Amino acid sequence: MDLRLTPDELRFRDELRDWLAKNLADLPPEPDHLDWPARRAYDTDWQRRLFDAGYAGVNWPSDFGGRGSSPTEQLVFLEESARAGVPYVGVNFVGLLHAGPTLIAEGTPEQQSRHLAQILRGDQVWCQGFSEPGAGSDLASLRTRAVRDGDHYVVNGSKLWTSHAEVADYCELLVRTDPDAPKHKGISWLILPMDLPGITVRPLRTVLGTAEFGELILDNVRVPAENLVGKENDGWRVTNVTLSFERGTAFVADVVESQREVGELAKLITDPVARNELAHIAAQLEGLWALVKRNVSEAERTGVPGVGGSVFKLQYSEARQKLSDLGGRVSGRSALSMSDRAGRERLQWLNLTIAAGTSQIQRNIIAERVLGLPRSRA
Ligand SMILES: Cc1cc2nc3c(=O)[nH]c(=O)nc-3n(C[C@H](O)[C@H](O)[C@H](O)COP(=O)(O)OP(=O)(O)OC[C@H]3O[C@@H](n4cnc5c(N)ncnc54)[C@H](O)[C@@H]3O)c2cc1C
Repeated sequence: MDLRLTPDELRFRDELRDWLAKNLADLPPEPDHLDWPARRAYDTDWQRRLFDAGYAGVNWPSDFGGRGSSPTEQLVFLEESARAGVPYVGVNFVGLLHAGPTLIAEGTPEQQSRHLAQILRGDQVWCQGFSEPGAGSDLASLRTRAVRDGDHYVVNGSKLWTSHAEVADYCELLVRTDPDAPKHKGISWLILPMDLPGITVRPLRTVLGTAEFGELILDNVRVPAENLVGKENDGWRVTNVTLSFERGTAFVADVVESQREVGELAKLITDPVARNELAHIAAQLEGLWALVKRNVSEAERTGVPGVGGSVFKLQYSEARQKLSDLGGRVSGRSALSMSDRAGRERLQWLNLTIAAGTSQIQRNIIAERVLGLPRSRA
């Protein structure tokens, strides 16, 4: 990918800059971080503005309501948005960053027309129902059961750590449809409307005091069979498509945001040892931005990001944690002070090496699928 901007791309960037500057001026104040309904309203309102201006789903095909632009324009969009400090995906992250892309790659035309433009407009918020009490790293051990009954699947079980479940309209749900098959071969991927009878969401309070995730209890929930994505029992393959978007392209805007923070810290730090540490992180982020370009152009070519996503996810999450540690030390703020935004963010970044697959799991994937080493015995 050549990242020197063509005249058309420069025009795209300049128009976007103008639009962002104008729209930032009348952006309402950010809601309280504990008020999830208000956060939903704030995030979906911004998403709607992007949609109306033609900036939602920059790289999504235009048939699905996106802009149908090149990977370069998508990266320009992410860079400019992060530099302008506009709201990023927020509660829309599952829909925009991995459920939507999965439906583009794997959904039926009906599923695509029911969900994709609605996600882009901010009318549909999605959550992810993958993890369970006994299935996190070993996701294929999941036990939530779906039994076919006429035109429906009857679903029973529970999910854990379901981010934004309380404000979501739909859930990408993994269920076991064949309990007798080997564990990777009896899973299916369902679209779960969150307003169906039998669904209970129990918020889980985090160390930050927020209830950003929940436990999802599913009690005889009747999900229409037309909500199956991919074939029955082929859900593990579809799951890997979802995870490749989640790990490969979902965090790219955060790299730009981290680079902005490096710039701010550079103005504050005078101690040479700390400056050296910051320079290492800056170099790591530069390398990651190069990897982002590679991953985004690979996704554009093949439709789905490759295993480079695990390399990115591992490196980014660890670099981000080093940066917030350094920021905490330099600014003298207590990492445990939850009334302080920097303190809260520092605590929050701890979750990055767990969410979307832990660092240990990314290392296993890289060892096996990139380096060709023997499988781990665990
Ligand atoms: C902020 C955040 C948001 C999340 N959002 C969602 C969501 O929306 N939907 C959802 O479904 N899930 C979500 N999760 C759950 C997340 O996917 C799991 O927490 C993660 O996959 C780890 O699973 P676990 O917590 O069960 O830990 P475990 O799998 O129990 O792992 C415990 C420890 O053992 C290590 N370990 C396990 N197996 C191996 C192995 N084979 N080799 C080496 N080490 C190993 C792990 O690395 C970890 O350190 C979220 C998590 C976080 C932190």
